Formats: sequence, structure tokens, C-alpha cells
Amino acid sequence: MKCEMCGQDAKLKKVKVEGAVLKLCKNCQDTGEVISAPRKVKNRFKKKKKRRKPRSQRKHLVKDFDKKVKAKRESEEMSIEDLSEQMKVKESVVHRIESGKLKPDEKLAKKIKKVLGIQLYQQESQLDYETRKKENKHSKATIGDIAKVKKKK
Ligand SMILES: [Zn+2]
Repeated sequence: MKCEMCGQDAKLKKVKVEGAVLKLCKNCQDTGEVISAPRKVKNRFKKKKKRRKPRSQRKHLVKDFDKKVKAKRESEEMSIEDLSEQMKVKESVVHRIESGKLKPDEKLAKKIKKVLGIQLYQQESQLDYETRKKENKHSKATIGDIAKVKKKK
């Protein structure tokens, strides 16, 4: 096959050039829009999208799980011993969770939920929302603090 632009013998592709469809070689394809290429790109994109896990299925451990567990346990007037007994784990496990040294897996988090009724795993969208809320509060407090410092001076 001969290229309709330069006349060279080569593998040709259909290329749209100024409204006309020409069969062009690799060197000449740049002058127009290759007709078959955009379709391929679209298909690849679609496949990728399908393979991604939906947002709602992704779960994350909440950031302040240690504080949440401790606060809830104390509000229920339970000792670490009580909690560990009800969770059927060693006291050291509860200790390590409350000090943030141990990140409870989903199994452990389920036990905590059963005993204390608090959810330590959240869906990503929820987590994002809470994190953003906190960050907003934090930045406001910082601006306030700066203002106070300036007034003092
Ligand atoms: Zn050519």
C-alpha cells in the first residue's frame, strides 16, 4: 500500500485530514487525526474504571480510634480489665489499642463494636468528611490564636 501523501510503501492508517479521510503512513499520520486511535483509548479507560473498587466498599480505621475506645470505655465506667474480659482478649491488647500502639483489625474492631457500640471502621467518604470538618476547625482555631497573639503585642 502506498501512502496517499508521500507515496511511500508502508503500513497505512486511516487519517482524517481537513475533513477528508486519507490512508497515510506513520510519518504522515501526524498531519491529521488517526481515526482508529481515539476509540482504543476510550475502551482502555472504561475497563480501568470498571476494575476500580467502588468508594462505598472501601473501609478505613478511624484516626483517633485510641481516644474513642478509651473515652467510650470510661463513659461506660468499665475498667481495662472489664473491657478485655468482654472482648475475650488480653488486657495488654486493650492497653495497646488505647495507647494507639495497636491498630485493631476489622475482627478486633467488631469485638469493640459489640462491647462498646462504637464503629472504628468507616467508609472512606464518611472519613473524608470528618477529617475535613476537623481540619476546618483546626485552621479556624489557628487563625484565632494568631489574632490573639497579635492583639497582645
Ligand atoms: Zn506518508
